[in-house]
Amino acid sequence: MADAIGPRLYACCNCRNHVALHDDIVSKSFVATGERRAFLFSHVMNVAVGPKVDRRLITGLHTVTDVYCSDCREYLGWRYEKAYDEAQKYKESKTVLIKFKIVKDDW
Ligand SMILES: [Zn+2]
Repeated sequence: MADAIGPRLYACCNCRNHVALHDDIVSKSFVATGERRAFLFSHVMNVAVGPKVDRRLITGLHTVTDVYCSDCREYLGWRYEKAYDEAQKYKESKTVLIKFKIVKDDW
């Protein structure tokens, strides 16, 4: 039986694999490179990550790993492994998922 007030899940846009919980969103006003809207999550699931790379973003140098759907390998966003700027430290171990790559799972 479906629970009407169960957790609100986000799913992969390609295969509907559950990748994140709405309650784990840290920031919804996140803008990724190229003006793509994105959400910052404290926790994600069912994802695979690529190798660590240093990347210079709008907010400075970060070590990040690309994040893919563990099922269909769709590129979904990236995880912050290390931030070099003190003001960006809160992002460490958090994951950015690009908004158009994820869909609400029936809510
Ligand atoms: Zn997928």
